[in-house]
Amino acid sequence: KGVVSNFGSLSEKLVSIIEMKNEMYELNGKVALVTGAGGERGIGRAIATRLASEGADVIVNDIVVRPYDSQTGWGGLPEVVREIEALGRPAISIAADVSDASQVEGMIRQALQRFGHIDTLVNNAGSRPGRDRVPVVDLDEEAWDTVQRINVKGTFLCCKAVARHMIDRGEGGKIINISSTSGKRGVARFAAYCASKFAVIGFTQALALELAPYRINVNAICPGTVDTERTGYIAAALAPTGTSAEADREQMIRGGASQSPLGRVAQGSDVARMAAFL
Ligand code: NAD
Repeated sequence: KGVVSNFGSLSEKLVSIIEMKNEMYELNGKVALVTGAGGERGIGRAIATRLASEGADVIVNDIVVRPYDSQTGWGGLPEVVREIEALGRPAISIAADVSDASQVEGMIRQALQRFGHIDTLVNNAGSRPGRDRVPVVDLDEEAWDTVQRINVKGTFLCCKAVARHMIDRGEGGKIINISSTSGKRGVARFAAYCASKFAVIGFTQALALELAPYRINVNAICPGTVDTERTGYIAAALAPTGTSAEADREQMIRGGASQSPLGRVAQGSDVARMAAFL
């Protein structure tokens, strides 16, 4: 009997997961802040536009207006704002360093001046892969610190500032931290990144317990390989000298696809769908 009833609840869960694929979440009247959202193929842009298409007003952040040099003429944050406005939702962009407390406080002040409240925070900003993707014995202290400062301290500072506002307002809220499968399993040459993403999961669990009484849900998403500008930087950092960065990137995407039961790596839109559900 136990097996049958467990199977029943499992199949109900599967049905609800399948339904999630096409479900829309009424986010009208909600305001979302998404950090690290200026990249053309980035997860942040996909989340920001998905939340807007569900009805949310959106504040998009990145450390600079145009985070990646673009071959395509991509203009960064102002383009994401235009996309969201084309979906019929108001949006603003705020360039700020999430690892700097005064810049984070300034960003939240500016966001509240414009929209009055924040219902959803997505901590998506992440340090750019580069000198940190080396064996630990070759890892510079400075490269280690940069990864922890942006990925861990940046998440902490944004959560602290927004959670204070959400508690004062008393209307609950949603906080979504982007961790990684590298936050659940070690990967050679990813030690600084793995340490930071494991930290994000521990931080998320602790904060979820603290904020539950205020009806603020705190969750982490742990994507595997997602096809963004970032994968090019990881491939370039890991590539043996003399090989083509583009060929290495394609090999990385193929490798990621072969390890996935779906036979493909994720796109930003896959992560955005999960964020909309949360
Ligand atoms: P991305 O590099 O395009 O996005 C990260 C963004 O954060 C960039 O636009 C960058 O400019 C911005 N940023 C960096 N430092 C910042 C700072 N101090 N303040 C504000 N913004 C800052 O990469 P992505 O692939 O879209 O990754 C988004 C998130 O998802 C990251 O946290 C990353 O670790 C995580 N993730 C990515 C993958 C993947 O395979 N692409 C897998 C798992 C997790």
